[in-house]
Amino acid sequence: MGRLVVVSNRVPPPADKGASAGGLAVALRAALKETGGLWLGWSGETAADDAGPPKVRTRLEDNITFAVLDLCKQDQEEYYQGFANRALWPLLHYRLDLVDFERRDTSGFFRVNAMFAEELARRLKPDDVVWVHDYHLIPLGAELRARGVRNPIGFFLHIPWPPPDVFFASPWHRRLLETFTAYDLVGFQIDHDVDNFISCLRRDGLGEQTGPTTFFAGGRTIRMGAFPIGIDVAAFAETARGAVDSPLVRRMVDSLRGRALVVGVDRLDYSKGIDQRMLAYERFLKAHPGRRGHVVYLQVTPKSRSEVPEYAAMQREIAETAGRINGSYSDIDWVPIRYLNRTIKHATLAGLYRMARVGLVTPLRDGMNLVAKEYVAAQDPEDPGVLVLSRFAGAARELDSALLVNPYDLDATAAAIEEGVAMPREERIARWRTMYDRIGRNNVHEWCRSFLRALDAGPAAGVSDLTILKKAS
Ligand code: UDP
Repeated sequence: MGRLVVVSNRVPPPADKGASAGGLAVALRAALKETGGLWLGWSGETAADDAGPPKVRTRLEDNITFAVLDLCKQDQEEYYQGFANRALWPLLHYRLDLVDFERRDTSGFFRVNAMFAEELARRLKPDDVVWVHDYHLIPLGAELRARGVRNPIGFFLHIPWPPPDVFFASPWHRRLLETFTAYDLVGFQIDHDVDNFISCLRRDGLGEQTGPTTFFAGGRTIRMGAFPIGIDVAAFAETARGAVDSPLVRRMVDSLRGRALVVGVDRLDYSKGIDQRMLAYERFLKAHPGRRGHVVYLQVTPKSRSEVPEYAAMQREIAETAGRINGSYSDIDWVPIRYLNRTIKHATLAGLYRMARVGLVTPLRDGMNLVAKEYVAAQDPEDPGVLVLSRFAGAARELDSALLVNPYDLDATAAAIEEGVAMPREERIARWRTMYDRIGRNNVHEWCRSFLRALDAGPAAGVSDLTILKKAS
């Protein structure tokens, strides 16, 4: 394979390494390092609106060139906060009630993608293999082709893809779908997303379907496949073993005084179902009075995208729900929900997961959900906790030995919490072992390799063979 070029909305700072960087960054970096690669994206900084064309700053570290550019305020508002976060994000998470389609944002979105393409095209060499990441950059491939780029280009979507009846509610559905035909390989988290995407292509009459997961359109074959992203299981398990001695985890354990811990960890996002989860926990307390005072639910929820109005409203709602439940059920020496609006270091989280009898991961919709996999990886093999997992998280396709729940069904989630708290050790071990083995095989390095192998294999490769989810099950 030639030099690997990765493009993503944000580029993690080169200094950010090890457990704090997250598995994805570590895996991509390993692949980039091998080929002396290039990683291009937004710096996260804002330039003045009148600053002129973007200035790309490059830095060579570990045999990787990191290239970042600033966005002006208008670009940031239209491309990032507007189109990506207020149109695409809710739409692709099936939340038509929250979408905001502004013409201004649409043009900003395509404009910024064209700008990224301009910067990238002039840096590309003939043998480069380009890997574009996530919803912010869907049209990038088409913008590169428009500039004469003929290199292999792959795209991976980290979030879900909805069925046509949801996707076609967007005014630009055809325009956006057409841009996918510029890619040689389009990867999704799970087979359901692939099926939904293919239904969209069919419904919009785009190209000709030439196989179960291949289309011919615009003079090229586009292959699609499911590549469920993983984590670095061995490294995270090791971190968890060490983290139980960290001061924060020690304080947590001391404060529990033998009570069972239920843990939830999510960015403050409406896709995560945090409000419904708290209501389900309330039902659990109501249905099992004997558990009151003996179980503590810790919800770690760093704020995110606070500048987007829908997020500010949700933040208030969840805080109110937590406050109301605590007001109703607290005792003089016990509070049922500990609700934290702050980020906890990845390595420390590992220790908290390990201490928790139940991991509560109940998104309304999620591309994968790495917290679910981290919770499994962090457990003590001799005395593991129980994962309660939403059926609507991509992770549920692999982690089917978890207690799978419908997060909209509060009574069922409440029953699963009780089942998790009460589950005998042998059953916990049996369920955990199956999940641990599965995520160990499909770890993040394997994910990265399998996508790149598929991209490198070219149009002749059979795509059903590439679907590692199908191979694993
Ligand atoms: N995370 C963290 N500290 C926190 C909360 C979350 O390090 O306080 C990490 C978490 O461990 C996981 C990631 O953020 O690695 C969240 O990934 P996930 O796929 O679950 O959800 P996303 O936020 O990408 O939608």
